[in-house]
Amino acid sequence: MLSSIQDWPLLVHRIIDHAAAYHGGRRIVTRRPDGRIVRTTHAEVRDDARRIVGRLLARGLKPGDRVGALAWNTDLHLALWYGVMGAGAVHHTINPRLFEDQIRYIVNDAEDRILVVEASFLPIIERIADSLRTVEEVVVLEPWAAIPPTALEGTALKITAWDEFMSGAAPADWVSVPETAPAGMCYTSGTTGAPKGVVYSHRSNVLHAMAMSVPDMLGISANDVVMPVVPMFHANGWSLAFSAPMQGAAMVMPGPHLDGASLFELMEAEGVTLSAGVPTVWLGLLRHMEETGGRLPKLQRLVIGGSACPRAMIEAFETRHGVEVVHAWGMTETSPLGTMARPLPEHRELDEAARFAVKETQGRPPFTVETTVTDDEGRPVPRDGRTFGRLKVRGAAVAGRYHRNSGAENFSPDGWFDTGDVAVMDALGFMKITDRSKDVIKSGGEWISSIELENTALSHPDVAEAAVVGVPHPKWDERPLLLIVPVEGAARDGGAILAHIAPHVAKWWLPDSVEFVEEIPHTATGKIHKLTLRERYRTYYGA
Ligand code: ADP
Repeated sequence: MLSSIQDWPLLVHRIIDHAAAYHGGRRIVTRRPDGRIVRTTHAEVRDDARRIVGRLLARGLKPGDRVGALAWNTDLHLALWYGVMGAGAVHHTINPRLFEDQIRYIVNDAEDRILVVEASFLPIIERIADSLRTVEEVVVLEPWAAIPPTALEGTALKITAWDEFMSGAAPADWVSVPETAPAGMCYTSGTTGAPKGVVYSHRSNVLHAMAMSVPDMLGISANDVVMPVVPMFHANGWSLAFSAPMQGAAMVMPGPHLDGASLFELMEAEGVTLSAGVPTVWLGLLRHMEETGGRLPKLQRLVIGGSACPRAMIEAFETRHGVEVVHAWGMTETSPLGTMARPLPEHRELDEAARFAVKETQGRPPFTVETTVTDDEGRPVPRDGRTFGRLKVRGAAVAGRYHRNSGAENFSPDGWFDTGDVAVMDALGFMKITDRSKDVIKSGGEWISSIELENTALSHPDVAEAAVVGVPHPKWDERPLLLIVPVEGAARDGGAILAHIAPHVAKWWLPDSVEFVEEIPHTATGKIHKLTLRERYRTYYGA
C-alpha cells in the first residue's frame, strides 16, 4: 500500500519561501561592518537569494559544488546562505579566526570553487592565495568603491565586487535536489588535529530547525525579535538562520560588532526578545549593563552554549535583569544543537538554588536527538547524576561520518557518535558535561571536573575568568592547577578563592595552587585553549 500523502522534500529554500509568503514584511535589521544600519525584510532577502542563484548558475556551479564564505552575520550573508543552498550548491562557512594554515587546509579540503569574503578578510586570502587549489573567484561583500587595493588583482583569481556580482541579476528558480543532498558544510575547529568537515543535508537542516524551534528548546515565534550573536560560521550558526525565518521572527544581525556596548545598543533599539551566543559574549553584555545601569526590558531569553555557562552568569541575568537563561549544548557534528536545559513540571516545587542547579546542566534533547552516557565498554552508566561516562548521540541531524571519512573511530556501527565529552546524566535525562575527554583531569585514579571547578571559582567576586587544567604530578599523576584572570583592581588572594571553592567540591578536587594571569588563551570559537595551557604549565608540579 502507498501512503496518500504528497512528497514534499524538506529543502531549505522552502524556509525562506515560507518566510517571504507569510511574514514577508517582517524586518531584518543589520549593522554592517562599516557601522551602517540597513533594514531589509524576509521577502527582500528571499529575492536577493534567488538573484544569487542566477549568478551562481551563470558561473557553471553544479549541485554539490562548494562556495566558501568568510562573512559576518548580515542580511547579505543571509541572502548568500539561501542563495548557495537554493542553487543546489553547498554553503561552506569558514571561521575567519582560525589560523591561516587551517583556513588554507579547509578551503582545499572542501574544494571551494568560489569564496565570498568581507573586505576586511581580503588580507587573509592574499596571504594564502598561492596555495588555494580549487578557488576560481573571490567575491567581496562590498561595492568596488569600498574595497581597498588588493594584491589579488592581477593574479589568476578573479575578483568580483558585490555590486558587480548582483547588478542586473534577475531572480532565478531554486534548483531542485533530493532532500538528502548536501546543503551546508562546517569544519570543527581542530584544536586536537586537522579540522574535520561536517556536511549538512537539506533534510537535516530543516528537521533540526523544526526540532529546535519548539517551546522547550529555542521557543521561537513570529512575535520574537531574534538576534543571532553566534556567528553563522560557528557550527551552522546554531540553526538561527533557519529557525528564525521558519517561524517568521524578525531578525537583528549584529555584523562584526560583538562588544557589550554595541550589542546593548542594538538590542535596546530593536527590542530584541531572544538571542544566542557563547558565554564570553554575554559576559561583555553583562559588564556593560552593570557598569551603565542599562536595562533591556524586552529581552526575554538568552540561549548560552558552546562552552559551559557559569552559574554566576545564569543567576545574574535571571535575578538582576529578569532574562531567562537557556543553557544549551551542541557540537558542529550535531548541527549543532543537541540539548537545552529548560525546567520541567517535575522541577516546579524546587527552591531557587535547586532550580538554578537544573539550569546549570546542559539539559536534555528534543525529539530527533538521542543521548546516552556509557562506560568505556559501551554500557550505559546509571542515570544518577553522579556517574561519569562518555556522552554519545544519534539523531536526524547528527553526523554519521566526516567529510572524506576522517575520524571514523568516533562513529560506531549502531549509529552512536562519540562526542568526546564526559558527562553525567540524571533520571530525567538532564546531562551535565564535566569535561571534554581530552581535558579530563585524573588524579590518584579519580576524575576531577575542570568545568565544575571553573564555575565555582567564577562565582567569587574577584574572578573575571577561570581555567583549570591537569598538570603532571610526581605523586598523583595529575593535579588541577587553577588559573585566574582577576577582576580589575581586585585583590590577588589565591587562598581566599580556594576557601570559597572548598565547601562545594570533594576535598581531593581542590587545586593545590592558584596562578594569576593577565589573560587566558581562547580557540577560534571562544573556548579556553586547554592544550596551550597544559603545555605551558607542564612542569609546574615538577613531574
Ligand atoms: P569546536 O571544537 O570547533 O570549538 P564545537 O562548537 O563543535 O566546536 O564544540 C563542541 C564542543 O563544545 C562540545 O563537544 C563540548 O565539549 C563543548 N560545549 C558546547 N556547548 C557546551 C556547554 N553548554 N557546556 C560545556 N561544553 C560545551
